[in-house]
Amino acid sequence: MANYYNKDLYKILDIPIDASNDDIKTAYRKLVHIYHPDVSGSNSDTNKFKEIQEAYEILSSASKRKKYDALHGFFKEKIKKDLEFKEQKKDKYSSYIKKAKKNASKSEPFSKSINQALDNLFMAQKQKVGYSDLKQPKNGEDINIDLSITMLEAMNGTNRKVNILHTQPCPHCEGRKFINETQCPMCNGTGQLSLQKKINVKIPKGITQGAKVRVKKEGNKGINGGKDGDLYLIIKIEKSPYFEIDDLNIICNLPITPFEAVLGAEIPINIMNSKITVKIPPMTSSGQKLKLAELGLENKQKTKKGDVIINVSIKLPDKLSQSEKSLYEKLKTISSSDVRSEMINV
Ligand SMILES: [Zn+2]
Repeated sequence: MANYYNKDLYKILDIPIDASNDDIKTAYRKLVHIYHPDVSGSNSDTNKFKEIQEAYEILSSASKRKKYDALHGFFKEKIKKDLEFKEQKKDKYSSYIKKAKKNASKSEPFSKSINQALDNLFMAQKQKVGYSDLKQPKNGEDINIDLSITMLEAMNGTNRKVNILHTQPCPHCEGRKFINETQCPMCNGTGQLSLQKKINVKIPKGITQGAKVRVKKEGNKGINGGKDGDLYLIIKIEKSPYFEIDDLNIICNLPITPFEAVLGAEIPINIMNSKITVKIPPMTSSGQKLKLAELGLENKQKTKKGDVIINVSIKLPDKLSQSEKSLYEKLKTISSSDVRSEMINV
């Protein structure tokens, strides 16, 4: 006898798969009238009638129908997954299938053989052989993502919320891909789901371009007891017009006003998470460099510290008030300085 769990019993009764019990009865009665051998008429067909009767017997019983649905879906899936299963060759499982097929192929009455096959399968499931034996621990992969931070954040350190998309075993099928031998509807048989997660990450001060910040166990989740992967944030430092990193040195391009250049000034700046005061001496010109020793980045061995190099540039404000302008005009009339004397003499 053919493998009936491979047959589409719904098609035999000409009903949709979500047919109600009443639909099944109505369809069956209709077909009996057409195919019953005792009904006079040229359509009577013993084999066809037998098939209809068997299909009805299974589908009209809620428990048998449930089992058939599971097994039929399972065998459809099995054809697709056959190669994968062969590779995994778990003997309990495959010998069971062989046995089920053998039973089904014996010339027993259909309902007996399929019921036995179904019962065996469900018994096997209960005893946790079959698919569950294919569970192998699998470690989750690491996730690498780029994280852009500003130069100030790189120097001073920061706390960032990072959105990550990581996979975890499907909670519905627990990563097994199948439930009652049908593909899990929640994960579509992949066994895992992608989830968005917000993670708070501390970026240490003085971090450099391309550095990797490791967040333990925030990578993809392990399956069947496998280890969770880690999350790695690869630091991309945005360019800043005011700060640059050169090895362990921090270069600071510091704008000052004309009067600060003339009179000198004390300017607070934030470097490596501490406020430092840059002393601009009186009569400082654009392009002048000031060095603040050992306030830069530290090497990995913590044996050497870089410097902070201040590059001074005189910057005019975007707007001047009328009184500022008149002061400049007054300055112009009283000024005796000639900044181009050397140029003219060349
Ligand atoms: Zn699932």
